[in-house]
Amino acid sequence: MEKDSLWKTTLEQLQVEITPAAYQTWFAKTCLETVNGNNFIIGCPSTYIKKRLEKKYKPQIEQALKSLTNKNPKVGFIIKKQQEKGKDSSSDNLGPLFQEQKKKEKQRKEKIKESGLSPQYTFSNFVVGNNNNLAYAVAQSIVQNPGTRYNPFFLYSDVGLGKTHLIQAIGNEILKTQRGKKVIYCTSEEFANQLIQAIQNRTTATFKTKFRSADVLLIDDIQFIAGRETTQEEFFHTFNALYMEQKQIVLTSDKAPKDIPELEDRLSSRFGSGMLADMQFPDFDIRLAILQKKCEDLKLKVNTDVLEYIAEATPSNIRELEGALNRVVTLAETQGVKPTRALAQKILGEPPQSKPPTADKIIKTVCNYYTLKPKDLKGKRRPIRIARPRQIAMYVMRKETELPFEEIGNQLGGRDHTTVMHGVTKIEELIHNDPGIKSQIMEITNQLSG
Ligand code: ADP
Ligand code: MG
Repeated sequence: MEKDSLWKTTLEQLQVEITPAAYQTWFAKTCLETVNGNNFIIGCPSTYIKKRLEKKYKPQIEQALKSLTNKNPKVGFIIKKQQEKGKDSSSDNLGPLFQEQKKKEKQRKEKIKESGLSPQYTFSNFVVGNNNNLAYAVAQSIVQNPGTRYNPFFLYSDVGLGKTHLIQAIGNEILKTQRGKKVIYCTSEEFANQLIQAIQNRTTATFKTKFRSADVLLIDDIQFIAGRETTQEEFFHTFNALYMEQKQIVLTSDKAPKDIPELEDRLSSRFGSGMLADMQFPDFDIRLAILQKKCEDLKLKVNTDVLEYIAEATPSNIRELEGALNRVVTLAETQGVKPTRALAQKILGEPPQSKPPTADKIIKTVCNYYTLKPKDLKGKRRPIRIARPRQIAMYVMRKETELPFEEIGNQLGGRDHTTVMHGVTKIEELIHNDPGIKSQIMEITNQLSG
């Protein structure tokens, strides 16, 4: 085969294996410079591209050439600016497969834009841990079967803990896997503003049609419609229309529906009628995993001990965690040094010292949470509404302090250490089977550290 057409065929084969973006960046301007027996020299337009091809794509290129030539190709690379041969290097001539992929990619981007979503929020860059796994599992299930089991899905948490990320990931994933579906994402404030505009412009019919034609309606920060009469009225009807048609509705908020002040009862009860899930602040390991993921995505090289420091020093939310990483990396860059633990320490200050809570504090926190009195936990009575919190107190003491079983028993009214062991095991089992208990315990531990 003549070398230009051999290379063209090779490229067509490679297009099947790699993403259009990678193809465009690394291969579009390459050529087959010389062929000498088994030696193939590829011309690259820059050192940068040459290095990348050598490091990452060499085996793939050799494999493609092998399948086309039946030789055992050895591939080398040189820098060679390609001659301008008409439009040869532009993507217009890169074969029907590539054109088709490009068209699809363009359509996908348009759909994302139309839907109001931001493409960067995906499941693949969402780190799952025990702080958010229920919410994540529900989100996954919704993508599989929108409008069925978990409808509406109401997701709530404090700020910066991933609500916007997760609700948008649902939308992006549905657009990716179910092309026919119409997804609409907006915040409740945008919903309100569009409604006001529609009223002013006398286009409420268009407004209604737009929102009622969604297969998947994603409204972020729904708490902001509270207290706004017209918006609540309109949203109530939109909600009902979609719900009746079994269209998927996902809402996020900073609180559970019943706790949102000035939210109409009829809305509150509808919001709470499907699946509720909350997300908590992640523990140290998950914070570290999030930082590692972030570095991987942004191709940042930061040592683990630095990331550990950042994970320790940022106790409030994930947005701040990302901000802290950015500050450390940016400052290191401007000083022309590698990010170190000392630098992170200088920028972020000392991480808060976390002393283990006392048994007393745990008992008080558990009592507070379940509106019981310490004497209930320490007493002999065993109805489940007291016995379960008592076991939870045992469990939390075991996890959060160094106290031995005997001492935990002493703290809880002189119970035997075997009773404590049994209580701890019981809760460990429940944590696996009962997401409610699990999130209660997380809230209690959060209150302890707060
Ligand atoms: P919220 O809407 O709850 O205020 P966001 O979804 O805006 O929070 O999250 C804040 C930042 O933290 C975003 O940049 C988001 O991508 C990131 N983030 C939150 N949760 C996770 C997670 N589990 N994994 C990776 N990144 C996360
Ligand atoms: Mg948000």
